[in-house]
Amino acid sequence: MTKTAIGKLVELLGQQHVLHEKEDLITFGYDATPEIQALPDVVVFPTEAKQVVELVKFACEEGLPIVPRGSGTGLSGGSVAAHGGIVLCLTRLNRILEIDEENLTATAQAGVVTLDFFNAVSTKGLFYPPDPGSQAISTLGGNIAEDAGGLRGLKYGVTRDYVMALSGVFGDGLTFTTGGKSVKDVAGYALKDLLVGSEGTLGIITEATFKLIPPPQAKRTLLAYFVDIRTAGEAVARIIAAKIIPATLEIMDKATINCVEDYAKIGLPREMAALLLIEVDGHPVVVAEEADGVKAVLQQVGAAEIQEATDAEHAAQLAAARRTALSALARVSPTTLLEDATVPRNRLADTFDEINRLTEKYQLKVGTFGHAGDGNLHPTVLCDERDRDEMERAHAFYHELYDKVLAWGGTVSGEHGIGLAKKDYLERQIGPGGIKVMRRIKHSFDPDGLLNPGKIFTEAKAEGTRAKSGSAHD
Ligand SMILES: Cc1cc2nc3c(=O)[nH]c(=O)nc-3n(C[C@H](O)[C@H](O)[C@H](O)COP(=O)(O)OP(=O)(O)OC[C@H]3O[C@@H](n4cnc5c(N)ncnc54)[C@H](O)[C@@H]3O)c2cc1C
Repeated sequence: MTKTAIGKLVELLGQQHVLHEKEDLITFGYDATPEIQALPDVVVFPTEAKQVVELVKFACEEGLPIVPRGSGTGLSGGSVAAHGGIVLCLTRLNRILEIDEENLTATAQAGVVTLDFFNAVSTKGLFYPPDPGSQAISTLGGNIAEDAGGLRGLKYGVTRDYVMALSGVFGDGLTFTTGGKSVKDVAGYALKDLLVGSEGTLGIITEATFKLIPPPQAKRTLLAYFVDIRTAGEAVARIIAAKIIPATLEIMDKATINCVEDYAKIGLPREMAALLLIEVDGHPVVVAEEADGVKAVLQQVGAAEIQEATDAEHAAQLAAARRTALSALARVSPTTLLEDATVPRNRLADTFDEINRLTEKYQLKVGTFGHAGDGNLHPTVLCDERDRDEMERAHAFYHELYDKVLAWGGTVSGEHGIGLAKKDYLERQIGPGGIKVMRRIKHSFDPDGLLNPGKIFTEAKAEGTRAKSGSAHD
């Protein structure tokens, strides 16, 4: 990037909101995804929404890629500038603008941290359910762009289910506001729904209005241990088949239990093959019935042990331990290669069998945890990026696993998105026709192909991109 171009950005935002020295750029050259790194030319931090419009217009004039970024906790390489250009970091657009107690909504800028938003609405007696494991760091914009799920997704749904309105900027500098506080709105195409989960490729979100709900009045937290993981998978399917929808139904396998115990030291039994963390919430009478129903199912399938959290503090400690699963696994080896395989719930037990078979076949160290109630598993290979042979085996493991996941009607991503990491997998799932239509959609939102180029699918030059070529990943 030329000095004149950097100078223009400094003029636009102020010196303290523009980074261009190599040492500073390195921090923004990766997210939480291993094996993916690329340096941007510059990182900018708008503090007002109107600056984002100016930045997009500038990128169009200069023909520079522009990559939106929240906190960089993404697990598919989405905020890495694969084609260089401008990383537009939204963390300084971080104001909660309104909590509307009459309409049960709240409006916030895209850079607000998820947990801060949750806490702010809680002080008004309201509840924002989406709670990704990264909620203490991730931003609302990143959650929307990835349609993030979380531990409460089973009962309460994912980010998409709470987004009522979005404002921001399309790839050609045109501003948009789509949706509003009306609970019903079918005016025109559902642009809001296209933008949710679009991974920064269709528009830059600067502001969002979310639906809020009253918090549950009561909650009970159960832990069930199993001597084989297949039975844990069966227990999940049977709980759902018993027409009980817990708020949380999370799983950890033996490797994960041991890593979490090493890290959190909360007395998890290391010899068990799997544990389920189950939370039922709602009206106290219903909660009591559902907790009893869950216990009955667990006994029928043959859980080795069933425990109940002694009090709210104990329950919070157990949920917090589950949230540390990825960090705890990441301490074991230099590289933590995590996937996002998602299957219909009646295929969970088969998926665990397949993970075990492939772990043996490829001689790998694998820890599996995830949102079992959603059929969403994170089989995580603990490996070392410097060991080529091991990395090849790890990728072969996932390749074969996804053959089964897709054959069973599952998906290659339940919540982490496609980004750079899973482009090939996506084509296997939706086929060349699906990719072609996605390219057409992108072209109409981002005619010059400058918004987060190279993510989700490889852009076809013929369809209008003039982004710089030379990605390390395409
Ligand atoms: C320990 C850990 C636990 C996790 N647990 C979960 C989990 O339980 N559930 C889950 O779904 N994910 C989880 N994740 C993944 C990740 O935290 C989520 O995808 C999160 O939504 C990313 O938010 P972010 O602010 O870090 O976004 P980033 O990583 O910075 O960006 C993610 C994507 O969003 C785009 N983007 C960011 N902001 C905007 C914006 N304002 N406008 C347009 N595009 C934008 C980026 O271009 C990129 O494509 C976890 C990650 C970690 C490290």
